[in-house]
Amino acid sequence: MKTLRFTTLPGDGIGPEVMKVALDVLDALGPKHDFQVEATSHDVGGIGIDNHGKALPDSTLSACEQADAILFGSVGGPKWENLPPKEQPERAALLPLRKAFELFANLRPGNLYPELADLSPLRPQTVANGIDVLCVRELTGGVYFGQPKRTETLENGEEEAIDTMVYRSGEIERITEIAVRAASLRGGKICSVDKANVLETSVLWRRIVTECVERLDGSIELSHMYVDNAAMQLVRDPNQFDVLVTENMFGDILSDELAVICGSLGMLASASLGARENSLSLPFGLYEPAGGTAPDIAGQGLANPCAQVLSAALMLRYSFGLEEAAAAIEQAVKDTIKAGFRTGDLAQGGDSVGTAEMGRAIMDRLD
Ligand code: NAD
Repeated sequence: MKTLRFTTLPGDGIGPEVMKVALDVLDALGPKHDFQVEATSHDVGGIGIDNHGKALPDSTLSACEQADAILFGSVGGPKWENLPPKEQPERAALLPLRKAFELFANLRPGNLYPELADLSPLRPQTVANGIDVLCVRELTGGVYFGQPKRTETLENGEEEAIDTMVYRSGEIERITEIAVRAASLRGGKICSVDKANVLETSVLWRRIVTECVERLDGSIELSHMYVDNAAMQLVRDPNQFDVLVTENMFGDILSDELAVICGSLGMLASASLGARENSLSLPFGLYEPAGGTAPDIAGQGLANPCAQVLSAALMLRYSFGLEEAAAAIEQAVKDTIKAGFRTGDLAQGGDSVGTAEMGRAIMDRLD
Protein backbone atom coordinates (compact mmCIF):
# COMPACT_ATOMS: atom_id res chain seq x y z
CA MET A 1 0.00 0.00 0.00
CA LYS A 2 1.31 3.44 -0.98
CA THR A 3 1.70 6.02 1.80
CA LEU A 4 0.94 9.61 0.81
CA ARG A 5 3.07 12.01 2.85
CA PHE A 6 1.86 15.56 2.63
CA THR A 7 1.37 18.63 4.79
CA THR A 8 -2.00 20.24 5.31
CA LEU A 9 -2.06 23.98 5.94
CA PRO A 10 -5.75 24.68 6.63
CA GLY A 11 -5.23 28.39 7.43
CA ASP A 12 -8.06 30.72 8.45
CA GLY A 13 -11.80 31.23 8.02
CA ILE A 14 -13.43 28.38 6.13
CA GLY A 15 -10.00 26.77 5.50
CA PRO A 16 -10.14 24.26 8.39
CA GLU A 17 -13.82 23.45 7.69
CA VAL A 18 -13.27 22.46 4.08
CA MET A 19 -9.88 20.84 4.76
CA LYS A 20 -11.57 18.37 7.12
CA VAL A 21 -13.86 17.24 4.31
CA ALA A 22 -10.96 16.84 1.87
CA LEU A 23 -9.07 14.65 4.37
CA ASP A 24 -12.19 12.57 5.09
CA VAL A 25 -12.62 12.00 1.36
CA LEU A 26 -8.98 10.88 0.99
CA ASP A 27 -9.29 8.55 3.98
CA ALA A 28 -12.44 7.01 2.54
CA LEU A 29 -10.90 6.59 -0.91
CA GLY A 30 -7.56 5.16 0.24
CA PRO A 31 -8.56 1.52 0.79
CA LYS A 32 -10.24 1.41 -2.64
CA HIS A 33 -7.11 2.66 -4.41
CA ASP A 34 -4.43 1.08 -2.27
CA PHE A 35 -3.10 4.16 -0.51
CA GLN A 36 -3.06 5.54 3.00
CA VAL A 37 -2.65 9.12 4.11
CA GLU A 38 0.11 10.30 6.43
CA ALA A 39 -0.62 14.02 6.72
CA THR A 40 0.55 16.52 9.30
CA SER A 41 -1.27 19.80 9.90
CA HIS A 42 0.46 23.13 10.55
CA ASP A 43 -0.43 26.77 11.15
CA VAL A 44 -0.29 29.23 8.28
CA GLY A 45 -1.64 32.72 7.64
CA GLY A 46 -3.50 34.60 10.38
CA ILE A 47 -3.35 31.70 12.81
CA GLY A 48 0.40 31.50 12.14
CA ILE A 49 0.71 35.17 13.12
CA ASP A 50 -1.39 34.62 16.27
CA ASN A 51 0.41 31.48 17.43
CA HIS A 52 3.97 32.02 16.17
CA GLY A 53 4.25 35.71 15.23
CA LYS A 54 4.65 34.85 11.52
CA ALA A 55 2.28 34.01 8.65
CA LEU A 56 4.67 31.25 7.58
CA PRO A 57 6.20 29.92 10.80
CA ASP A 58 9.61 28.21 10.51
CA SER A 59 8.13 24.97 11.84
CA THR A 60 5.51 25.03 9.07
CA LEU A 61 8.09 25.61 6.36
CA SER A 62 10.31 22.80 7.59
CA ALA A 63 7.33 20.42 7.75
CA CYS A 64 6.58 21.29 4.12
CA GLU A 65 10.18 20.55 3.21
CA GLN A 66 9.81 17.02 4.59
CA ALA A 67 6.62 16.37 2.59
CA ASP A 68 5.82 15.34 -0.98
CA ALA A 69 3.09 17.98 -1.42
CA ILE A 70 1.16 20.70 0.38
CA LEU A 71 -2.62 20.77 0.63
CA PHE A 72 -3.37 24.41 1.39
CA GLY A 73 -6.67 25.91 2.63
CA SER A 74 -6.84 29.69 2.52
CA VAL A 75 -5.53 32.52 4.64
CA GLY A 76 -6.48 36.00 5.82
CA GLY A 77 -9.50 37.76 7.24
CA PRO A 78 -10.71 40.94 8.94
CA LYS A 79 -8.63 40.32 12.08
CA TRP A 80 -5.36 40.79 10.20
CA GLU A 81 -6.33 43.23 7.45
CA ASN A 82 -4.85 46.29 9.18
CA LEU A 83 -1.34 44.82 9.21
CA PRO A 84 1.22 46.40 6.84
CA PRO A 85 0.91 44.93 3.30
CA LYS A 86 4.14 42.91 3.66
CA GLU A 87 2.82 41.18 6.79
CA GLN A 88 -0.65 40.41 5.40
CA PRO A 89 -1.34 36.68 5.75
CA GLU A 90 -1.81 35.97 2.04
CA ARG A 91 1.33 37.78 0.91
CA ALA A 92 3.50 36.72 3.85
CA ALA A 93 2.52 33.05 3.58
CA LEU A 94 1.98 32.27 -0.09
CA LEU A 95 4.82 34.29 -1.64
CA PRO A 96 7.55 32.71 0.53
CA LEU A 97 6.07 29.25 -0.11
CA ARG A 98 6.12 29.88 -3.88
CA LYS A 99 9.71 31.05 -3.56
CA ALA A 100 10.90 28.24 -1.29
CA PHE A 101 9.54 25.54 -3.59
CA GLU A 102 10.05 27.42 -6.88
CA LEU A 103 6.40 26.95 -7.79
CA PHE A 104 6.59 28.03 -11.42
CA ALA A 105 3.49 26.39 -12.89
CA ASN A 106 -0.03 27.33 -11.89
CA LEU A 107 -2.77 24.98 -13.08
CA ARG A 108 -6.33 26.25 -12.88
CA PRO A 109 -8.99 23.88 -14.12
CA GLY A 110 -12.07 25.73 -15.35
CA ASN A 111 -14.84 23.26 -14.72
CA LEU A 112 -18.52 23.98 -14.96
CA TYR A 113 -20.88 21.03 -14.73
CA PRO A 114 -23.95 21.23 -17.01
CA GLU A 115 -26.19 21.11 -13.90
CA LEU A 116 -24.65 24.41 -12.72
CA ALA A 117 -24.76 26.11 -16.12
CA ASP A 118 -27.14 28.78 -14.74
CA LEU A 119 -24.31 30.08 -12.52
CA SER A 120 -22.22 31.09 -15.53
CA PRO A 121 -22.54 34.61 -16.88
CA LEU A 122 -22.22 33.17 -20.40
CA ARG A 123 -25.24 32.56 -22.64
CA PRO A 124 -27.12 29.34 -21.77
CA GLN A 125 -26.52 27.80 -25.23
CA THR A 126 -22.75 28.38 -24.88
CA VAL A 127 -22.51 26.47 -21.59
CA ALA A 128 -25.35 23.97 -21.96
CA ASN A 129 -22.79 21.12 -21.89
CA GLY A 130 -20.68 22.71 -19.17
CA ILE A 131 -17.07 23.88 -19.46
CA ASP A 132 -13.89 21.83 -19.12
CA VAL A 133 -10.69 23.78 -19.80
CA LEU A 134 -7.33 23.75 -18.00
CA CYS A 135 -5.28 26.94 -17.83
CA VAL A 136 -1.53 26.44 -17.27
CA ARG A 137 0.10 29.73 -16.27
CA GLU A 138 3.83 30.41 -15.91
CA LEU A 139 4.10 31.86 -12.42
CA THR A 140 7.62 33.06 -11.70
CA GLY A 141 8.81 34.89 -14.81
CA GLY A 142 7.70 37.60 -17.21
CA VAL A 143 6.86 41.23 -16.56
CA TYR A 144 5.96 40.79 -12.88
CA PHE A 145 9.54 39.91 -11.98
CA GLY A 146 11.76 41.19 -14.83
CA GLN A 147 14.48 43.76 -14.10
CA PRO A 148 14.82 46.72 -14.40
CA LYS A 149 11.63 47.62 -12.60
CA ARG A 150 11.50 51.19 -11.29
CA THR A 151 9.84 54.60 -11.27
CA GLU A 152 12.00 57.70 -11.62
CA THR A 153 11.68 61.41 -12.26
CA LEU A 154 13.20 62.56 -15.55
CA GLU A 155 15.17 65.79 -16.07
CA ASN A 156 12.08 67.52 -17.45
CA GLY A 157 10.17 66.69 -14.27
CA GLU A 158 8.03 63.94 -15.81
CA GLU A 159 7.79 60.65 -13.98
CA GLU A 160 8.65 57.45 -15.84
CA ALA A 161 7.90 53.87 -14.77
CA ILE A 162 9.54 50.80 -16.27
CA ASP A 163 8.66 47.11 -16.08
CA THR A 164 10.59 44.54 -18.05
CA MET A 165 9.23 41.38 -19.60
CA VAL A 166 11.89 38.67 -19.69
CA TYR A 167 11.71 34.98 -20.55
CA ARG A 168 14.49 32.45 -20.97
CA SER A 169 14.14 29.31 -23.05
CA GLY A 170 14.54 27.07 -19.97
CA GLU A 171 11.58 28.75 -18.27
CA ILE A 172 9.44 28.21 -21.36
CA GLU A 173 10.54 24.60 -21.73
CA ARG A 174 9.66 23.61 -18.17
CA ILE A 175 6.16 25.13 -18.31
CA THR A 176 5.59 23.47 -21.69
CA GLU A 177 6.57 20.12 -20.16
CA ILE A 178 3.87 20.60 -17.50
CA ALA A 179 1.30 21.51 -20.16
CA VAL A 180 2.22 18.43 -22.19
CA ARG A 181 1.93 16.20 -19.14
CA ALA A 182 -1.47 17.71 -18.32
CA ALA A 183 -2.75 17.50 -21.90
CA SER A 184 -1.72 13.86 -22.18
CA LEU A 185 -3.95 13.12 -19.16
CA ARG A 186 -6.85 15.03 -20.79
CA GLY A 187 -7.88 15.73 -24.39
CA GLY A 188 -4.37 15.86 -25.89
CA LYS A 189 -4.73 19.46 -27.16
CA ILE A 190 -2.67 22.52 -26.22
CA CYS A 191 -3.31 26.10 -27.24
CA SER A 192 -0.34 28.33 -26.45
CA VAL A 193 -1.31 31.97 -25.90
CA ASP A 194 1.09 34.81 -26.65
CA LYS A 195 1.39 38.19 -28.37
CA ALA A 196 3.99 37.18 -30.93
CA ASN A 197 2.92 39.94 -33.33
CA VAL A 198 4.29 42.55 -30.88
CA LEU A 199 6.50 41.06 -28.16
CA GLU A 200 10.00 39.58 -28.50
CA THR A 201 9.37 37.36 -25.49
CA SER A 202 6.32 35.96 -27.28
CA VAL A 203 8.30 35.19 -30.45
CA LEU A 204 10.72 33.15 -28.33
CA TRP A 205 7.79 31.65 -26.39
CA ARG A 206 6.08 30.44 -29.56
CA ARG A 207 9.25 28.90 -31.02
CA ILE A 208 10.29 27.12 -27.82
CA VAL A 209 6.77 25.81 -27.12
CA THR A 210 6.58 24.42 -30.65
CA GLU A 211 9.99 22.72 -30.46
CA CYS A 212 9.34 21.39 -26.97
CA VAL A 213 5.92 19.88 -27.75
CA GLU A 214 7.33 18.21 -30.90
CA ARG A 215 10.18 16.75 -28.88
CA LEU A 216 8.09 15.58 -25.93
CA ASP A 217 4.95 14.22 -27.54
CA GLY A 218 4.25 14.37 -31.29
CA SER A 219 0.67 13.23 -30.70
CA ILE A 220 -0.29 16.49 -28.96
CA GLU A 221 -2.35 18.82 -31.14
CA LEU A 222 -0.69 22.22 -30.69
CA SER A 223 -2.11 25.59 -31.76
CA HIS A 224 -1.12 29.19 -31.04
CA MET A 225 -3.38 32.17 -30.39
CA TYR A 226 -2.83 35.85 -29.66
CA VAL A 227 -3.92 36.78 -26.16
CA ASP A 228 -6.53 39.34 -27.26
CA ASN A 229 -8.19 36.71 -29.40
CA ALA A 230 -7.94 34.11 -26.62
CA ALA A 231 -9.76 36.47 -24.22
CA MET A 232 -12.59 36.75 -26.77
CA GLN A 233 -12.68 33.07 -27.66
CA LEU A 234 -12.97 32.08 -24.00
CA VAL A 235 -16.32 33.83 -23.71
CA ARG A 236 -17.46 32.95 -27.24
CA ASP A 237 -16.74 29.21 -27.13
CA PRO A 238 -14.67 28.06 -24.12
CA ASN A 239 -14.84 24.38 -25.03
CA GLN A 240 -12.75 24.86 -28.18
CA PHE A 241 -9.85 24.74 -25.67
CA ASP A 242 -8.49 21.72 -23.82
CA VAL A 243 -5.25 23.02 -22.23
CA LEU A 244 -4.23 26.67 -22.46
CA VAL A 245 -0.58 27.43 -21.71
CA THR A 246 0.63 30.98 -21.32
CA GLU A 247 3.05 33.37 -19.67
CA ASN A 248 2.55 34.97 -16.27
CA MET A 249 0.55 38.16 -16.93
CA PHE A 250 -1.61 36.73 -19.72
CA GLY A 251 -2.29 33.72 -17.50
CA ASP A 252 -3.18 35.93 -14.55
CA ILE A 253 -5.91 37.56 -16.60
CA LEU A 254 -7.14 34.55 -18.58
CA SER A 255 -7.32 32.25 -15.55
CA ASP A 256 -9.53 34.76 -13.74
CA GLU A 257 -11.70 35.10 -16.83
CA LEU A 258 -11.99 31.31 -16.90
CA ALA A 259 -12.90 31.29 -13.18
CA VAL A 260 -15.72 33.79 -13.61
CA ILE A 261 -17.26 32.05 -16.60
CA CYS A 262 -17.35 28.87 -14.51
CA GLY A 263 -19.71 30.51 -12.06
CA SER A 264 -18.70 29.68 -8.50
CA LEU A 265 -15.49 30.10 -6.52
CA GLY A 266 -16.55 27.23 -4.29
CA MET A 267 -15.99 24.75 -7.14
CA LEU A 268 -12.58 25.85 -8.40
CA ALA A 269 -9.37 24.05 -7.47
CA SER A 270 -5.80 24.94 -8.36
CA ALA A 271 -2.33 23.46 -8.35
CA SER A 272 1.06 25.16 -8.27
CA LEU A 273 3.84 22.81 -9.30
CA GLY A 274 7.47 23.27 -8.40
CA ALA A 275 10.81 22.86 -10.10
CA ARG A 276 11.76 20.32 -7.47
CA GLU A 277 10.74 16.68 -7.64
CA ASN A 278 9.32 14.95 -4.59
CA SER A 279 10.45 11.60 -3.18
CA LEU A 280 8.37 9.84 -5.86
CA SER A 281 10.17 11.69 -8.68
CA LEU A 282 6.97 13.61 -9.41
CA PRO A 283 6.51 17.39 -9.17
CA PHE A 284 6.30 18.82 -5.66
CA GLY A 285 3.13 20.89 -5.58
CA LEU A 286 0.93 23.18 -3.54
CA TYR A 287 -2.78 22.52 -4.02
CA GLU A 288 -5.45 25.02 -2.97
CA PRO A 289 -8.98 26.23 -3.69
CA ALA A 290 -9.25 29.34 -5.88
CA GLY A 291 -11.35 31.21 -3.30
CA GLY A 292 -10.35 32.88 -0.06
CA THR A 293 -11.35 32.46 3.58
CA ALA A 294 -14.97 33.61 3.04
CA PRO A 295 -15.24 35.51 6.38
CA ASP A 296 -18.95 36.14 5.71
CA ILE A 297 -19.78 32.44 6.20
CA ALA A 298 -16.77 31.15 8.19
CA GLY A 299 -17.51 29.09 11.29
CA GLN A 300 -21.11 28.39 10.25
CA GLY A 301 -20.62 25.06 8.47
CA LEU A 302 -21.93 26.56 5.23
CA ALA A 303 -18.83 26.59 3.01
CA ASN A 304 -18.71 24.60 -0.18
CA PRO A 305 -15.97 21.95 0.29
CA CYS A 306 -15.82 20.97 -3.40
CA ALA A 307 -12.90 23.25 -4.36
CA GLN A 308 -10.79 21.83 -1.51
CA VAL A 309 -11.79 18.25 -2.35
CA LEU A 310 -10.99 18.83 -6.03
CA SER A 311 -7.63 20.34 -5.02
CA ALA A 312 -6.88 17.07 -3.20
CA ALA A 313 -7.74 15.25 -6.45
CA LEU A 314 -5.20 17.40 -8.32
CA MET A 315 -2.63 16.51 -5.66
CA LEU A 316 -3.25 12.79 -6.24
CA ARG A 317 -2.89 13.31 -10.00
CA TYR A 318 0.23 15.45 -10.19
CA SER A 319 2.26 14.84 -7.00
CA PHE A 320 1.33 11.20 -6.35
CA GLY A 321 0.68 9.88 -9.87
CA LEU A 322 -2.70 8.42 -8.84
CA GLU A 323 -4.76 9.29 -11.90
CA GLU A 324 -7.57 6.79 -11.26
CA ALA A 325 -8.04 7.92 -7.67
CA ALA A 326 -8.03 11.57 -8.78
CA ALA A 327 -10.64 10.83 -11.44
CA ALA A 328 -12.75 8.93 -8.88
CA ILE A 329 -12.92 12.03 -6.66
CA GLU A 330 -13.78 14.27 -9.60
CA GLN A 331 -16.52 11.89 -10.68
CA ALA A 332 -17.92 11.71 -7.13
CA VAL A 333 -18.13 15.52 -6.94
CA LYS A 334 -19.79 15.60 -10.36
CA ASP A 335 -22.30 12.92 -9.30
CA THR A 336 -23.04 14.79 -6.07
CA ILE A 337 -23.95 17.90 -8.04
CA LYS A 338 -25.95 15.78 -10.49
CA ALA A 339 -27.89 14.28 -7.56
CA GLY A 340 -28.99 17.80 -6.63
CA PHE A 341 -26.82 18.58 -3.58
CA ARG A 342 -26.08 22.33 -3.39
CA THR A 343 -24.27 24.41 -0.80
CA GLY A 344 -25.55 27.98 -0.37
CA ASP A 345 -23.20 29.46 -3.00
CA LEU A 346 -24.69 27.12 -5.63
CA ALA A 347 -28.32 27.01 -4.52
CA GLN A 348 -29.55 30.30 -6.05
CA GLY A 349 -32.16 30.68 -3.33
CA GLY A 350 -33.24 27.00 -3.47
CA ASP A 351 -32.68 24.30 -0.85
CA SER A 352 -29.11 23.99 0.35
CA VAL A 353 -26.96 21.68 2.47
CA GLY A 354 -24.02 22.47 4.76
CA THR A 355 -20.34 21.61 4.44
CA ALA A 356 -20.55 18.29 6.30
CA GLU A 357 -23.58 17.01 4.39
CA MET A 358 -21.99 17.95 1.06
CA GLY A 359 -18.88 16.03 2.18
CA ARG A 360 -20.92 12.96 3.11
CA ALA A 361 -22.71 13.07 -0.25
CA ILE A 362 -19.34 13.09 -2.04
CA MET A 363 -18.05 10.19 0.07
CA ASP A 364 -21.20 8.18 -0.63
CA ARG A 365 -20.42 8.47 -4.34
CA LEU A 366 -16.73 7.47 -4.33
CA ASP A 367 -16.45 4.67 -6.91
P1 NAD B 1 -13.37 35.06 -0.80
O1 NAD B 1 -13.05 34.14 -1.93
O2 NAD B 1 -12.98 34.63 0.55
O3 NAD B 1 -14.96 35.33 -0.79
C1 NAD B 1 -15.66 35.89 -1.90
C2 NAD B 1 -17.12 35.37 -1.87
O4 NAD B 1 -17.13 34.01 -2.29
C3 NAD B 1 -17.73 35.41 -0.47
O5 NAD B 1 -19.09 35.75 -0.56
C4 NAD B 1 -17.58 33.98 0.00
O6 NAD B 1 -18.57 33.60 0.94
C5 NAD B 1 -17.68 33.18 -1.30
N1 NAD B 1 -16.92 31.93 -1.22
C6 NAD B 1 -15.57 31.77 -1.41
N2 NAD B 1 -15.25 30.49 -1.24
C7 NAD B 1 -16.39 29.83 -0.93
C8 NAD B 1 -16.70 28.47 -0.63
N3 NAD B 1 -15.77 27.52 -0.60
N4 NAD B 1 -18.00 28.17 -0.35
C9 NAD B 1 -18.96 29.09 -0.39
N5 NAD B 1 -18.74 30.39 -0.67
C10 NAD B 1 -17.46 30.75 -0.93
O7 NAD B 1 -12.72 36.46 -1.18
P2 NAD B 1 -12.62 37.82 -0.34
O8 NAD B 1 -13.89 38.06 0.42
O9 NAD B 1 -12.15 38.81 -1.30
O10 NAD B 1 -11.44 37.55 0.70
C11 NAD B 1 -11.63 37.13 2.05
C12 NAD B 1 -10.29 36.88 2.69
O11 NAD B 1 -9.64 35.80 2.01
C13 NAD B 1 -9.32 38.07 2.59
O12 NAD B 1 -8.62 38.17 3.79
C14 NAD B 1 -8.39 37.69 1.45
O13 NAD B 1 -7.12 38.26 1.59
C15 NAD B 1 -8.34 36.19 1.61
N6 NAD B 1 -7.99 35.46 0.39
C16 NAD B 1 -7.11 34.45 0.53
C17 NAD B 1 -6.77 33.69 -0.59
C18 NAD B 1 -5.79 32.56 -0.40
O14 NAD B 1 -5.55 32.14 0.70
N7 NAD B 1 -5.22 32.04 -1.47
C19 NAD B 1 -7.35 33.96 -1.84
C20 NAD B 1 -8.28 34.98 -1.93
C21 NAD B 1 -8.61 35.73 -0.81
